[in-house]
Amino acid sequence: MQNLTVTELSAELSRGAISSVELTRACLDRIGRLNPELNAFITVCEESALAQAAAADRARAEGDERPLLGIPLAHKDIFCTRDTHTTCGSRILQDFLPPYDATVVEKLRQAGTVMLGKTNMDEFAMGSSNESSYFGAVGNPHDPGRVPGGSSGGSAAAVAAGLSPMATGTDTGGSIRQPASFCGITGFKPSYGRVSRWGMIAFASSLDQAGTLTRSAADAALMMQAMAGLDPRDSTSVDRPVEDYAGALGKPVNGLRVGVPRPHFAKGLSPGVERGIHAALAELERAGAILIDIDLPNNHLSVPAYYVVAPAEASANLSRYDGVRYGYRCESPADLEDLYTRTRSEGFGDEVKRRILVGTYALSAGYYDAYYRKAQRIRRLIRQDFIDAFRQVDVIAGPTSPHVAFPHGAKADPVEMYLEDIFTIAVNLAGLPGISVPAGFEEGLPFGLQIIGPDFGEALVLNVAHQFQQLTDWHKRLPETAAQAETGEN
Ligand code: GLN
Repeated sequence: MQNLTVTELSAELSRGAISSVELTRACLDRIGRLNPELNAFITVCEESALAQAAAADRARAEGDERPLLGIPLAHKDIFCTRDTHTTCGSRILQDFLPPYDATVVEKLRQAGTVMLGKTNMDEFAMGSSNESSYFGAVGNPHDPGRVPGGSSGGSAAAVAAGLSPMATGTDTGGSIRQPASFCGITGFKPSYGRVSRWGMIAFASSLDQAGTLTRSAADAALMMQAMAGLDPRDSTSVDRPVEDYAGALGKPVNGLRVGVPRPHFAKGLSPGVERGIHAALAELERAGAILIDIDLPNNHLSVPAYYVVAPAEASANLSRYDGVRYGYRCESPADLEDLYTRTRSEGFGDEVKRRILVGTYALSAGYYDAYYRKAQRIRRLIRQDFIDAFRQVDVIAGPTSPHVAFPHGAKADPVEMYLEDIFTIAVNLAGLPGISVPAGFEEGLPFGLQIIGPDFGEALVLNVAHQFQQLTDWHKRLPETAAQAETGEN
């Protein structure tokens, strides 16, 4: 049952083959068995999940047929959940109980979903391996000695291992797509402004966007239908009608123009991933898509520009954690300065401190023009490259990540870790929608194909991903840990 997609589970619930309580109980049992090794969840909400499931079953008995009614889900621990711990992977928020739900949480609850708990993540979503979490690293369900990617690593591992059929994530520079690639699942980041950021703990406000981690693009469409839309509480959410994502899934790729930025594949792409991505593109071509070589001339500047803009915004956003208003407070401070200094020194981990230092430096009066203003200019050029490319093509496709999941501890150098995002970051800088879909394996570990669309091309991107999943079965190949748990032999 845990290996079914949301779409399939919804049909099972609808025909009465299973109840939401049974499904929720099965997920909770599996979390109990597999989470000690995977560490995908920081908080599990057993009691409230079962109560929500029972309510969903009652609603269904009364004729309620909403597609997500009674489907369990996990929220990345960056989304505020009322009276439920919301840590953002940090010691500084270890005991934080938000007084309200994030819009995403509220909307998915209103759609009838059942919240299983909150998933592990890199501290304040800064990272690509989930190793910066105060609550410990997460195991990749395909090989627990390897990382699940990050920062939405807990959500990706939970979905890949069948602990939850779907999960939310956030993506500032690749944090949904890269873990989806590493864990062999589907990860979708919508256009900036499509989904409300209200109640989503801020990292870099001009880049952060909520999205989905699921086993198929069709499931992402169902989740997106519930999540998308204008929110008056988020001034950057966009007033634009929400398309019928599930309804748009039927269009074949015949005649679709797929832009392929081949020059960028060259650097650092592992041979197995390169072969697999070319095979995936050939698959689309056989189905009638037209591959067109494109160039994104400023793409090589995306990592340096991002690592100025994102830390600059983070340094401002994280100034609120000062030990005064909420969150961790150091023991018996001598005075106000001691309170600030020790609270932040003890509450934040190394990567977060590094970003605050870099961001503060980049914004300081003497360096603002040299770094921050320049990075913003590069950001404009990167966006313009995409606008130009989308005059010739409908979508752009390529690798999500240069390689498969790496072992824990393998990337100790922060700059090496930053290069993880080489294929994903430009999409955030430009504010575009992007998805990672499973596209093959290298030495037993999965990797993803990234499909990027123009502004608010959510329906288009989801459909192309869905069509790819009609042509291939990579997204159906489950990790062994999940398969073993299914037969009870873990
Ligand atoms: N890996 C990138 C970073 O560390 C992106 C993280 C994210 O998308 N939240 O900033």
